Amino acid sequence: MSRFDSSAAAVTTPVIERTRNIGIVAHIDAGKTTTTERLLYVTGTTSTLGEVDDGTAAMDWTVEEMERGITINAASTTVGWNGHRINIIDTPGHVDFTAEVERCLRVLDGAVVIFAATEGVQSQSETVWRQADRHHVPRIAFVNKMDRVGSDLPRCVEEIRARLRAHPIVVQLPIGLEEAFEGVIDLVEMKALRWSEEARALESQMIFAYHTEKVPDELADEAQLAREAMIEALCDVDDEVLAQVIEGGDDIAGDLLRAGLRRATISRKAVVVLCGSAFGDKGLQPLLDAVVNYLPSPVDVADEQGMVADAKAPMCALAWRTQHEDRGMLTYIRVYSGRLSSGDTVYNSTKDKREKIGRLFRMHANQRMEVDFVDAGQLAAAVGLRITTTGDTLCDETSPRLLEQSQFADPMMSRTIEPRSAEDGEKLAAALAALAVEDPSFHVGVDGETGQTLVSGMGELHLEIIASRLRREFRVDAAIGKPQVSYRETVTAVGEESYVFSRSVGGHGQFAEVRIRVEPAPSEGRGGLGAPATAPNHTEREDQIPREYRLAVDKGVLEACSRGVLARHSLVDLQITVVGGSYNVVDSSVQAFELAGGHALAAAVAAAKPVVLEPIMKVEVVTPDAFVGVVMGQLAARRGHVLGMDTRAGFSVVLAEVPLATMFGYTTELRSATQGKAAETMSLAGYAPVSGSTSKSANKKVEGA
Ligand code: GDP
Ligand code: MG
Repeated sequence: MSRFDSSAAAVTTPVIERTRNIGIVAHIDAGKTTTTERLLYVTGTTSTLGEVDDGTAAMDWTVEEMERGITINAASTTVGWNGHRINIIDTPGHVDFTAEVERCLRVLDGAVVIFAATEGVQSQSETVWRQADRHHVPRIAFVNKMDRVGSDLPRCVEEIRARLRAHPIVVQLPIGLEEAFEGVIDLVEMKALRWSEEARALESQMIFAYHTEKVPDELADEAQLAREAMIEALCDVDDEVLAQVIEGGDDIAGDLLRAGLRRATISRKAVVVLCGSAFGDKGLQPLLDAVVNYLPSPVDVADEQGMVADAKAPMCALAWRTQHEDRGMLTYIRVYSGRLSSGDTVYNSTKDKREKIGRLFRMHANQRMEVDFVDAGQLAAAVGLRITTTGDTLCDETSPRLLEQSQFADPMMSRTIEPRSAEDGEKLAAALAALAVEDPSFHVGVDGETGQTLVSGMGELHLEIIASRLRREFRVDAAIGKPQVSYRETVTAVGEESYVFSRSVGGHGQFAEVRIRVEPAPSEGRGGLGAPATAPNHTEREDQIPREYRLAVDKGVLEACSRGVLARHSLVDLQITVVGGSYNVVDSSVQAFELAGGHALAAAVAAAKPVVLEPIMKVEVVTPDAFVGVVMGQLAARRGHVLGMDTRAGFSVVLAEVPLATMFGYTTELRSATQGKAAETMSLAGYAPVSGSTSKSANKKVEGA
């Protein structure tokens, strides 16, 4: 029986202003899936409550997810609340699946960032926060697990301010702490909301029922102070509310405050902070209210995209995710403007090809509800698309548009893979190709030295899941080799070289000269984050390299950047400028300039003191005090560098930087050395030179230079 009651989720009039497209993002285990499941239940979308811990969460529906109790795929669903339609995407929190989060943020209008009140701001919350900044996504914060011993809302808020450099505005005051947490005071309306046994009894056992009462006397002073702090924080970023306070004092009507909080959120000047306990069923209705009240509708963000969010405008949509299925491909789509109908022939402007839309569906995790059309501002999935891949724009051929593509981080780790039988060989190649189309952070290549097939991904877990999907979904038996780190190369000095390509082919000359300068370009001002090379700047004159050859030079340069000069690792964190060159009216050609561009780049890099880089991970280990010594010892043995210690909710936290190359198998080793009581999380800290990599081949002659 279907647990998804589609009628409850379908708000009768999906007016665009009453639509919210939101993502639930956070560090692993903060409670994203639990919260999403509760939201489904509290809105009447499902009639049974799914639990992550029992493997019954509707949102974690793949075998891999149910077995591991973690989210791997972004699952989307829709709930109705207060006359609004909220499309929700539950995202994975594990660092290996950041690409999945990246493409979700690309199509979301707002996000709920969940923090565990016991843990505060964790490494992956920082990563997703930066991703959301990059995609200009307004967000609100939900501090979850308020029921747990060691929960600390003020500390979490402080970390949001300090570590995320955000401007938090706390709009609730918790009633009762830890096990005694029973509700919140709504500081906008100055009312107490309690999720208590009495409320449940009154509402005939509705587990989410709460009642509203006046602020209890013993909390009156504290609530008044908290309200003043909230208004002050809002005044810092909103002149309208500031003007109202100057005129009439703190006694501002709830509507005016909410309007101010909405402006502050949508302009991304502030982050509204709420708290609750998803697992304890507390605080979810106010969270839904906040989504509706504060997060933008598609219309609010359309301007920023340069779009008209109207069903009557020309159609424009983004294919943001594809999923391999037995019979073809399921393509997840966000419609930005116009209307997309089943059976339409649309123009894929990324690939410059036409494509026919088969059937269209609204998705609830793995269940689907067929619809005839999808209007601007809505999310849906389509079957029948053949050539469209992640990041492609689909539009009306008469008013073509090309939406910006997301940049995905390059894989950090690879393993060899070999079929166990000749018969599996063909199946394996096809399966790997299908998986690579689906997942932009998964690559398939060939080891330059051994000729073996190499699969590359973001980490051990990522590749483990690929291997397990090969067996389960594609029924291919393959042997997978040991993990190896993906290195990078960069330059440590300025280098400038010319390359002259001059050859005569069949009586016809080929001529091009390109002069290139390269210099180190630390990403985001912090250095060593491994930003892939981008197209060069051009400062050369038109009479040196005519405009029509510039694209060819760029192509040759970028191609050369994918194989560095030391050991053919891709080049990162460098800035490239074409500073000069020459051509010949008779003999110059696009091909000659492409070749010269590539060779000039290699020559300039070789002259700029290149080094090989390895990924360095920021590792955070949460452990009982008794095992701190053991944990430190293990990290030291893996070339780790301990940065500091902290305590959190009665546990010790060890922070260290460790090369990824030494981290293989760490999870297992840590578990067994600490009786399973310690847990670690990793995120990329940056790239650092591998010691001794410079001397080896930096002065190696570059071919043709
Ligand atoms: P996700 O990785 O962010 O999706 O987190 P999950 O929803 O899978 O939750 C991780 C774990 O935390 C599960 O064991 C949940 O039961 C538990 N959990 C989630 N929310 C709460 C909460 O409010 N209080 C408590 N005590 N546990 C919670
Ligand atoms: Mg989850």
